[in-house]
Amino acid sequence: MLGRSARGILDRLKAGVVLGAEGYVFELERRGYIKAGPYVPEVVLDFPDALRELHREFLRAGADVMVALTYYAHRGKLKDVGRENDLEAMNRQAVRIANEVAREGDALVAGDICNTWAYDPKDKEASSRVVRSMYEEQLSWAVDEGIDFVIAETNDYLGEALIALQVIKELGLPAMVTLATTRPQQTWDGYGYVDACKILADHGADIVGLNCDRGPATMLPIIEQVRGAVSSYVAAQPVPYKTQASMPTFESLKTADGTNVFPIALESFLCTRFEMADYARQAQALGVNYVGICCGGAPHYVRAMAEALGRTVPASRYSPAIELHPMIGAKVEEKEKEFLVDWKG
Ligand SMILES: [Zn+2]
Repeated sequence: MLGRSARGILDRLKAGVVLGAEGYVFELERRGYIKAGPYVPEVVLDFPDALRELHREFLRAGADVMVALTYYAHRGKLKDVGRENDLEAMNRQAVRIANEVAREGDALVAGDICNTWAYDPKDKEASSRVVRSMYEEQLSWAVDEGIDFVIAETNDYLGEALIALQVIKELGLPAMVTLATTRPQQTWDGYGYVDACKILADHGADIVGLNCDRGPATMLPIIEQVRGAVSSYVAAQPVPYKTQASMPTFESLKTADGTNVFPIALESFLCTRFEMADYARQAQALGVNYVGICCGGAPHYVRAMAEALGRTVPASRYSPAIELHPMIGAKVEEKEKEFLVDWKG
C-alpha cells in the first residue's frame, strides 16, 4: 500500500514547516532497551510496547512524522548481534508500530534507511550492489506495511546516498536524503556538504539536508548555505548538544580534562529545551522546511520546538507553569525565594 496518508509529505511541506522527531535509538538506549555500541533496535521485537510509547510521546509532543525504527535494522548490523534471522520480522514490525501510533493522530509514516558500513568507494561496483540489495529488501518490507515517504539518513558517503535515492525513486516514493557531517567540510568520498546536497537534489531528492552529529550551533551555518544552493525542500535534524567551532560534532566533544564523552557520557553538553526552541525558530527563519532533532532528542525538546513554531500540541496541556512553583513562583516574596534557593542549595 503506497502513500498511506491522504495528505502526503510534499503537500505538507508546501503548506509549511514539517516537524520531525528522531533519536529513538539513543532514547531507548537510555531507557534500557537497546545496547550502546552495536545500537541495533532489538527493542522492536523484544519490547514493542516501549517503542510504541516513545512514538506516542513524540506524537503528543507535536511530531508530524513517525519514523519507523529500522535504523541499523539491516543485514550487516543484525549479523553483528547474531539476529540475522530476525531481519524481516524486525523491519516489518517497526513499520507496523509506527503506523499504529501515526493513526492515533494525523502523522505520516517514514520508512528509514541509513549508512550500511558496507559501501566502499575503493570497491565501488561490488559494494554498491551489496548496499543496493540491503536497501531494496528493507524498503520492500516497509512499502508492504505502508509508508508515506522514505528518510535515508546519516549518509557518510554521497555515493551511498545516491544508491538510497535511486532505490526510493524506483519505488515511486518521496525521498528525504540527509548527510552525516562527521568531518569538517566534506563527505567521506570528498564532496563538500553543500555540493553533495545539490547533487542529491539534482538527482531528484525531494528533501535534502543534514542530520545527526552536529548540534544547532555548528549545523545551521552549513544548512544556511544548503538553503541558498538548492531549490528542493531542506531538512535539518541536529543533535541537542552544545557543539562549537573547536568541537563541531558530538563525536568530538571532550570535557575540560580531555576525556571523550561520546556516546554515553554526553549529558553535560545537552542543550536546554529553550535552546532547542531557539534552534527551531532560527531554522524556520532560514527557510528550513523539515525541522527535526536527532540523537539525544526527547519529547520535551520536540514539544518546545513545536510551541516555538507557534503550535499547541496535545502535550502542551502539561507545558510548564513555573509561576505556580512554590519556591520560585510569583506568589513567594523575593526574600523568601532567596532563602529557599540558598537552603535547597
Ligand atoms: Zn542521530
